[in-house]
Amino acid sequence: MRHKGPLKQFDEFDAWSFSRSGERICSDEVKFDFPRLAGDEAISASHVDHWEISGRINAKSESVIRFQGRFSAEFSCVVCGSGVQHVIDFDRHLVLVTSESQADVYDEEMLDEQTDVVACPGAINLRDWLEDEILLACPMFPKHDACTDVAGRSWRDSESDEDTDDYQDDTAGGPKQEVQRPFANLSDLLKGSKK
Ligand SMILES: [Zn+2]
Repeated sequence: MRHKGPLKQFDEFDAWSFSRSGERICSDEVKFDFPRLAGDEAISASHVDHWEISGRINAKSESVIRFQGRFSAEFSCVVCGSGVQHVIDFDRHLVLVTSESQADVYDEEMLDEQTDVVACPGAINLRDWLEDEILLACPMFPKHDACTDVAGRSWRDSESDEDTDDYQDDTAGGPKQEVQRPFANLSDLLKGSKK
């Protein structure tokens, strides 16, 4: 895949043909800016080290886009309030379907935790999409290791429901409700809206 000229080709990106032809692009070839990451008031400094986007057709003949990469960011520790640096790896596989209704009926039980389904009825803004993935990978409760020990169980509980059978992760109130649904914003991207 040849990349010449401006980044316009990624504004209205055809993820379907990208995955059908098994293409791949990465940060060595294409320079993207991430204004929302840079402007996020919860993130005092950030650097995207590397990213890669690849497409493929899976064993079920579905189109899949994979976003992976690594970035570092400085957040405010939720315990002590001072800066805490995180290096974050992200790696997500997104099965494309043509409509929201198809996404709704998709049996997500079949998917592993790195995989989601996303409605992609038309062209998307690839840079925006990648930036969504980076923002989604940010920790919800950033904190120092030492602060985790100080704060004890309560913080650990809010991150893990492995040993809390009675923990209602989807319906409980509190900060977890602020979890951004993957691709809640994709419909905006699909309309080509500029922020
Ligand atoms: Zn701290």
